Amino acid sequence: MSIQPITIDYLFSGSIVVTMNPSCAIIENGGVAVKGEKIVWVGEMAHAGSRFKARQVLEMKDKVIIPGLINAHGHWAMTLFRGMVEDCTLDKWLAKIWRVEAEAISEENVTAGSQLAMVEMIRSGTTCAADMYWHYLPTTRIAQEAGFRIFSGPSFADIQGFEDYRHTNEAIAIAYIDTFKNAPLVHCCIQAHSTYMTNADILNQVAKLSADHNLVFVTHASESLWEIDLVDEKWGKTPIQVLDQFGLLGTHTLLAHCVHLSDDEISRLAETGTSVVHCPTSNLKLSSGIARVADLVEAGVNVAIGTDGAASNNDLDLFSEAQLAALMQKGVSGDPTVLPTQKVFAMLTIDGARALGIADKIGSIEVGKLADLVVVDFSTANLTPCYDPYANLIYALSAADITHVMINGQMVMKDRELRTLDEEAIKAKVRKIAEDIRGM
Ligand SMILES: [Zn+2]
Repeated sequence: MSIQPITIDYLFSGSIVVTMNPSCAIIENGGVAVKGEKIVWVGEMAHAGSRFKARQVLEMKDKVIIPGLINAHGHWAMTLFRGMVEDCTLDKWLAKIWRVEAEAISEENVTAGSQLAMVEMIRSGTTCAADMYWHYLPTTRIAQEAGFRIFSGPSFADIQGFEDYRHTNEAIAIAYIDTFKNAPLVHCCIQAHSTYMTNADILNQVAKLSADHNLVFVTHASESLWEIDLVDEKWGKTPIQVLDQFGLLGTHTLLAHCVHLSDDEISRLAETGTSVVHCPTSNLKLSSGIARVADLVEAGVNVAIGTDGAASNNDLDLFSEAQLAALMQKGVSGDPTVLPTQKVFAMLTIDGARALGIADKIGSIEVGKLADLVVVDFSTANLTPCYDPYANLIYALSAADITHVMINGQMVMKDRELRTLDEEAIKAKVRKIAEDIRGM
């Protein structure tokens, strides 16, 4: 008796599959089947037999399929300010950025900057990214149009002179959540800039919103010593203690940076299940310091990786971020066994998904999960030979080795050609905006 083949949309065939499933299985001569937005099969091609009738078969010889990367912290439209402010401390950097933002931040400009960010992220293997910025509503819409997975939401802050743009409120927040709660590419969260740019009213409001709507809460915390002093002056506590006081630590909290933490604070983050997103380039560039990532991981804290904005990085390449994260911890700890390659790759994928509260949907290649997949060409000189795919991914890969990117079952880059964003038009637009910014 013959069995009818199952019709699927894509069959990636004949590659190494780095699954990041619970046992971190790596499948040689593997394949992945995609139907609609989901992964419906993953395994050895020898076992695929004739069970699938695929609309498209992609022969993946010498290629490696990995889960799409997750950029857990960023400010997309800050690509507009890439390379604009260099060689200064966080306080001076912020002063300059905020002055220019006051003039340059329009919906049109944010849209162009965010589109440029998506081009760069897709090209470097990112399929889902967090954004915290003004005009988050249009940014969410253009992410949907581009087929890009966005983690975003109302962003609260108390910045004098910026009330019109930034000062969101409960009604605006709820309208956003209602609009996107069932959108397949949008994952809503509640954000507040930091404990130094908010007040008790805002912190109570965000705590209530994130609890009422079961959404992840995101904020910057303990990034620099300047911030620690500022928060001490304002609250008589550390940023972590302030968040704890407002009930804002827990499995639904994601803290960006966490560079300056005491042993007690690390224990508290572990005890409460709070996630941290590490942004090594930004921390080094602004001399904020080096986060105790190896200690956080050792204590059991879930740590993801983010690029932060392009104004302090200056690119959005998560692979180079991961390499730096690993090297920094080995260098400062004097222990080369900390942050092994498989763990660092987990931080880019499944741990990132956990930090965003969506580990049941993305972060690994498993049946039933959404098809966010990246294909890497391992035949390039810098990836030859391959003893261990994780070692090549973390320490030898260049973004140019990435050939295909699929998000939610849609191919957004095929053979390095972008299919949902007009890269040349976007770059031309951003160059024009930069001409105006130069005069500010
Ligand atoms: Zn940030």
